[in-house]
Amino acid sequence: MLLEVDELCIEYLGAPPTRAVDRVSFSLEERTFLGIVGESGCGKSTLLFGIAQLLSPPAEIRSGSVRFMKQDLVGLDESRVRGMRWRNFSVVMQSAMSALNPVKTVSAQYADAMRAHGERDRAAIASRSEEVLRLVGIDPVHLHSYPHQLSGGMRQRVMIAMALLFSPQLILMDEPTSALDVVAQRSLMVQIKELQNQLGFAVIFVTHDMSLVANFSDRLAVMYAGRFVELGGTRATFDRPLHPYTRGLLDAFPSISGPRQPLVGIGGYPPDLADLPAGCHFHPRCPVRMESLCQLVEPEGNRVGDSEVRCHLYAEERSSAG
Ligand code: SF4
Repeated sequence: MLLEVDELCIEYLGAPPTRAVDRVSFSLEERTFLGIVGESGCGKSTLLFGIAQLLSPPAEIRSGSVRFMKQDLVGLDESRVRGMRWRNFSVVMQSAMSALNPVKTVSAQYADAMRAHGERDRAAIASRSEEVLRLVGIDPVHLHSYPHQLSGGMRQRVMIAMALLFSPQLILMDEPTSALDVVAQRSLMVQIKELQNQLGFAVIFVTHDMSLVANFSDRLAVMYAGRFVELGGTRATFDRPLHPYTRGLLDAFPSISGPRQPLVGIGGYPPDLADLPAGCHFHPRCPVRMESLCQLVEPEGNRVGDSEVRCHLYAEERSSAG
């Protein structure tokens, strides 16, 4: 396994503290593309930043572990984590315009990143900068451009190229296409997938748009109120969604094939993470909730085929498996 996250809990400290990531566990093999989907505020970006050890106060990892390349990053000395960041894993932020320095050219920002990791040879820096830019389909002439001189799609590609500077084994992506129109989104997704096939890195891709990762991810995690409620193969999840929330998400976006069907939204709103409903956190919005049981008892994870689902509807499968 490249990455093993075990019972990770992240809280925003305050009175009372808000648990944004609650006992999340999963593992990721090399070269695998994992999509993490869920509505805004469900904790998916916090999880990504927690894995990268990039949380800042008041967010804090309260318990659990993040084993990456057999080393637990939680509690590891920051200088050692910094040595791994960029080299072994890198992060692509949601908005390149905010992540890139507006007063430095692309080449200066790539050079900064490489120098920070010990590369001093100017020719090697120049050559690697050109190489990664070509990898993402941008003419190296743009190494001399400032971020504002590039289109939104190009800026995101520049960020992805920067993430590739040291050929990391894992790239964490936080909604990198959300500021783009659908055509640019699709083109960037195709490019990310091609790069992944070519270079062999693993990806964790966080998005609120389930359809975006449908054709690109190998595995899909559905997150609700800080927890993974379903985790399985992407195709299996789309063909046979198990959790009522996953079904709701799938019913909420149109299919490009088959008969026209009215779209059905999920009623209600995501819960306040500081004041979660008892029992199953989804029960106030769940169309198939079972009175009492779902309101009082928090469901455990159940294995169904190759998927894991956190819902009382599948408790029998757990008892028969046990
Ligand atoms: Fe719905 Fe109950 Fe399953 Fe929660 S545990 S998703 S309320 S059926």
